[in-house]
Amino acid sequence: MISPRFPITDDHIHIDPVNGRGIEAAKDFLRAGGTHIFLVSKPSWSLDVHPACGSDYARVFDETLRVADLVTETGLIVYPVLGVHPAEISRLAERMSLAEAVTVMQGGLDCAARYVKEGRAVALKSGRPHYEVDENVAAASNAVLAHALALAGECRCALQIHSETGPCADIVDMARTAGVPVDRVVKHYGSPETPLHPSLIAKHEAIPALAREHRAFTMESDFMDENSRPGAVIGPKSVPRFTKKLLESGQITTEDCFRIHAETVERVYGVTVTLL
Ligand SMILES: [Zn+2]
Repeated sequence: MISPRFPITDDHIHIDPVNGRGIEAAKDFLRAGGTHIFLVSKPSWSLDVHPACGSDYARVFDETLRVADLVTETGLIVYPVLGVHPAEISRLAERMSLAEAVTVMQGGLDCAARYVKEGRAVALKSGRPHYEVDENVAAASNAVLAHALALAGECRCALQIHSETGPCADIVDMARTAGVPVDRVVKHYGSPETPLHPSLIAKHEAIPALAREHRAFTMESDFMDENSRPGAVIGPKSVPRFTKKLLESGQITTEDCFRIHAETVERVYGVTVTLL
């Protein structure tokens, strides 16, 4: 393997040795030239955890950290991102009131914030349902998101959000209220029109144009690592593969690669991105 001359960072990936390919998927990323990953906690139900209170999420987060250690052994740099998937609200509301679901989810985020404060994770994750919900669920989800933003402000960390398609411009004011710089609110599966920080799926066609404009963005695979949903998203190699393809075809430069995969990542997450 020829080691890359620049870092290649996947801003949002899941690795699941229980339900997916696990470390083999991480090795695929490494062999394709990848160097750094933001390893995002999976929804509680995918690990068969059914939280009744916020601290029940510790099992989900401990599993993410266990996987982070395993992946680190392959030679990748792993930054854990912990939080509560916004779709949990619908699952929880099947067995408790909406108000109780909000309490559980906010408690889960409190638990995640403790890991960030201890330096065991670099960022939080929250959002609101990406599918149609009634106005009560929408309001409840915004309350959870506001809490996540408040915690990100308190921890001085970035927040990844998973939310509906579109710019999500209203989250700018929510971030301001919480004291979180808007460029540290990362819109996972984002698009260029968002005023938040866009994390673009690796194959996004706007990447060459945005790179030419020196627009700040990061790249992600959103690889789910679930054998039951093999075609759900693009594979674990997609960020290094698309980066190299764009570089080789002259659509982006090496300087762009450093900006996308190191400088921007450092600014958004407050980490230091170096090659081993
Ligand atoms: Zn994800």
